[in-house]
Amino acid sequence: MPKRDYYDVLGVPKNASEEEIKKSYRKLAMKYHPDRNQGDGAKAAEEKFKEAKEAYEMLSDAQKRAAYDQHGHAGVDPNAGGFRGGEGMGGFADAFGDIFGDIFGGGGRRGGGGQQVYRGNDLSYAMEITLEEAANGKDTQIRIPSWENCDTCGGTGAKPGTKAKTCTTCNGSGTVHMRQGFFSVQQTCPHCQGTGKIIPEPCTSCNGAGRIKKQKTLEVKIPAGINEGMRIRSAGNGEPGTNGGPAGDLYIEIRIKQHDIFERDGDDLHCTVPISVVTASLGGTIEVPTLAGKVEIELPEGTQHGKTFRLRGKGIKGIRSSYPGDLYCHVTIEIPIKLTEHQRKLLKELDESLKKGGDKHSPTAKSWTDRVKDLFK
Ligand SMILES: [Zn+2]
Ligand SMILES: [Zn+2]
Repeated sequence: MPKRDYYDVLGVPKNASEEEIKKSYRKLAMKYHPDRNQGDGAKAAEEKFKEAKEAYEMLSDAQKRAAYDQHGHAGVDPNAGGFRGGEGMGGFADAFGDIFGDIFGGGGRRGGGGQQVYRGNDLSYAMEITLEEAANGKDTQIRIPSWENCDTCGGTGAKPGTKAKTCTTCNGSGTVHMRQGFFSVQQTCPHCQGTGKIIPEPCTSCNGAGRIKKQKTLEVKIPAGINEGMRIRSAGNGEPGTNGGPAGDLYIEIRIKQHDIFERDGDDLHCTVPISVVTASLGGTIEVPTLAGKVEIELPEGTQHGKTFRLRGKGIKGIRSSYPGDLYCHVTIEIPIKLTEHQRKLLKELDESLKKGGDKHSPTAKSWTDRVKDLFK
């Protein structure tokens, strides 16, 4: 297939300006970019993408454009030695720097000085609080790392009397263009880590970082109702950015200590209340704990093991809840141990007496015995 005219490929007139060429190329490249063309049309789109890229590479270079204008395709050979490398790619990436940043989710954006600007890393801080603190909220302070400009080098990172040099790998831009398949990707310069500078003699106070890690106190307000695993964000209290980029954020992650009495389930609380056989049998008033102090509940006569009493609104009011949860008290009946002879005698007497009364004292056992009988009939 004969090669199409580069101007036709880009759809621009022969006297098109550099700006027009660049604009038209961007439009085509976005249209035919492999990320946006998958499935049936993928192959054709890839061809169009390559064609547009080649045309742009030729026409965006004044020297090559002149040769092409004079001699046509014979004047320029895109496969000629020495051309496929970085030199030709420069123009390509220049037209694309920002767009490729979007497509590939590039790590940074360009700063005023032409260097890559990076947001600092987020930090995370684990904070353990009690259930009571989680329920009621708490104002507290934590010590977190902070960074200050190094006094010795004034923040440059270079030993006093020396200077940082421009990184020769990226010429100070902080980024390099790597070929991936048939297109180019902008990457952080591996030599200078995107700073665009190399420090031949680092400052000994800060090891070339230009800043020194210190500690600072941060006031933290823990909202009432917070739960295990929730995170409180403190904007801008993470690590500082690179080349003047914004600082990251600090995340305070909440852990809640195990409570002696209560177990939390969302906004509800659960606790286990042991009662004696006698109290269970006769009923009576028992004290149960809540987060706001003790309350009394009336146990009815004949309370069975495993019975649950719900205390409405005695749970926790969650951060996003409009009313508090409930407290569930689960009754367990404690069987007495280490009985004296006298106590044994009393129990046996009780047993005799209950047997005389027939099945009415133990309806569950009665129905169970009947079911067992039925099973072996
Ligand atoms: Zn320093
Ligand atoms: Zn570099």
